[in-house]
Amino acid sequence: MTVPTRSARSSAELIRAEGPVLAHNYHPLPVVVARAEGTWVEDVEGRRYLDMLAGYSALNFGHRHPKLIEAAHRQLDRLTLTSRAFHNDRLAEFAEGLAELTGLDMVLPMNTGAEAVESAIKVARKWAYRVKGVPSDQATIVVADGNFHGRTTTIVSFSGDPAARDGFGPFTPGFRTVPYNDLAALEAAIDETTAGVLIEPIQGEAGVVIPDDGYLTRVRELTRQAGCLFIADEIQSGLGRTGRTLAVEHESVLPDVLLLGKALGGGIVPVSAVVARREVLGVLGPGEHGSTFGGNPLSAAVASAVVDLLATGEFQRRASELGEALDAGLSALTGRGITAYRSRGLWAGVDIDPAIGTGREISERLLREGVLVKDTHGSTIRLAPPLTITREELHSALASLEKVLLQGT
Ligand SMILES: *Cc1c(COP(=O)(O)O)cnc(C)c1O
Repeated sequence: MTVPTRSARSSAELIRAEGPVLAHNYHPLPVVVARAEGTWVEDVEGRRYLDMLAGYSALNFGHRHPKLIEAAHRQLDRLTLTSRAFHNDRLAEFAEGLAELTGLDMVLPMNTGAEAVESAIKVARKWAYRVKGVPSDQATIVVADGNFHGRTTTIVSFSGDPAARDGFGPFTPGFRTVPYNDLAALEAAIDETTAGVLIEPIQGEAGVVIPDDGYLTRVRELTRQAGCLFIADEIQSGLGRTGRTLAVEHESVLPDVLLLGKALGGGIVPVSAVVARREVLGVLGPGEHGSTFGGNPLSAAVASAVVDLLATGEFQRRASELGEALDAGLSALTGRGITAYRSRGLWAGVDIDPAIGTGREISERLLREGVLVKDTHGSTIRLAPPLTITREELHSALASLEKVLLQGT
């Protein structure tokens, strides 16, 4: 079978064709990607772009990493789906590997990030009633302002983003919001009804917001003292992005419940997981939670190959080393079109001087220079290249950024 190299329609025609038939819940940059390899994507007309977004960290290993593609092909030729009505021969290896990689005991396989978050909310509530002894239907979960945990009705119930919430009520009760990086507010919000504290160790969607040193350590202490769960949403921050397997490792903290997604599917299939201590995930019994596709053999095979890649430590090391180059490059541009930035590993939120342009405008100018990034929240752009990026490619992306910033208004 041959793969056609070009769509019969041009980029412009394809974008126009989407208008009347595709829901308008996104505002994509005007590029129509047709193929990709490693850190590079190619549009319908054959123009090449350096991918500095990597599917919001779903492509941590780049596009079509040979080991992941091989794992997928091999599994496609053998077994793709069983449902959980039966065992499949890939699931044990996936769960063992992920438990070992994270240092936790038990794995609940799901598909999307939002499903992992939903699953963790259910597990935390059940744990609160069964183990902690919270009176029925009284459990609360403390969350942070500026959070992004997904798009379901329950999750947008505790979003602070008006676009995510407005028009979607009534909302799910049982959540308390505190400012991010504010330990006093967190401590005040926790009481005997608290099932857990759900936070991102670094807030990605908010613009790569990194809490003060010691924050995660103190969240761990506070939750332990209060007898509630520390639930870390590492769907975007995890799996090598920050220079460690998990962002919580920067403070040597182990949460009770860890949420993974995005890169876990190797850029091939949606795979997410709740990973937790046995005492916590052990509260689920047959029929109490599930998913038709969760833990399917194709997903398990690809995710096992992802775990194998991470077990080498190579990608964490690259993110850490090249992260220094990224930080140095952004530091040199601060005051020259960038007002501030935050970075950890190969991940950065960059605040653009509003006099030069909005985040969207800068993203569009970078697109014309052959570099893909995406704005988040007005004047901020997010950089999250594949962890396979070379030093030369990173420097070339930074040079393109410098060029578009110096173009000015
Ligand atoms: C992307 C993301 C989610 C939601 O994942 P989906 O797969 O889009 O449902 C949840 N939490 C965080 C931190 C994320 O970055």
